[in-house]
Amino acid sequence: MAKESKRARAERAAEIFGLLAEEYPDAHCALIHSNAYQLGVATILSAQTTDVRVNLVTPALFERYPAPAHLADARPADVEEIIRSTGFFRNKTKNIIGFAQVVTDLHGGEVPRTMKELTALPGVGRKTANVILGNAFGVDEGVVVDTHVKRLSTLLAFTKEKTPEKVEGDLMALYPMERWTLLSHLLIFHGRQVCAARSPRCEACVMSHLCPSSRV
Ligand code: SF4
Repeated sequence: MAKESKRARAERAAEIFGLLAEEYPDAHCALIHSNAYQLGVATILSAQTTDVRVNLVTPALFERYPAPAHLADARPADVEEIIRSTGFFRNKTKNIIGFAQVVTDLHGGEVPRTMKELTALPGVGRKTANVILGNAFGVDEGVVVDTHVKRLSTLLAFTKEKTPEKVEGDLMALYPMERWTLLSHLLIFHGRQVCAARSPRCEACVMSHLCPSSRV
């Protein structure tokens, strides 16, 4: 592909967003949650596993520990038993109990709403903070870059970067702020349904004419 101007890339990016938004009008966060506490815990549990697997364990977890104060006082062995199937369960148990303790002790039981406060919580990095801000509080502070978003951003020639933070920076430069949260959902939906890592279905892709990596 010939070198693309900044403007041409921005136009292509906008067109891609429009096509994906039409294709996936119900794109949303796949982690089942009903508040910021639940979403924070679910996101911490989603490391190295699928959202589907997390959704299998969280109903029992939140029934037993409905608020941060309950989880803050939990016995680690009890939590480990519930979340075992999500993998890395000892570390995740430490993180979600620590998360609940700091939310309870320092924030009066309310998950904080700023990037700085969120990333100071145990188990919460920029990606988890972006998930919470965008989906529990409706704040577009950044773009969630998971494996799908990273792969598609590279295939679409939106970035040449390798680290999630730098990929996020390129996407934030390419799209207006109010699109950041939805952009991530759209790319994740497309990555799951059409542009799979091992076998992208370019022939079924609505943006194949705009994708430099298209095989058709
Ligand atoms: S054209 Fe192919 S490689 Fe490009 S986004 Fe679509 S499925 Fe993925």
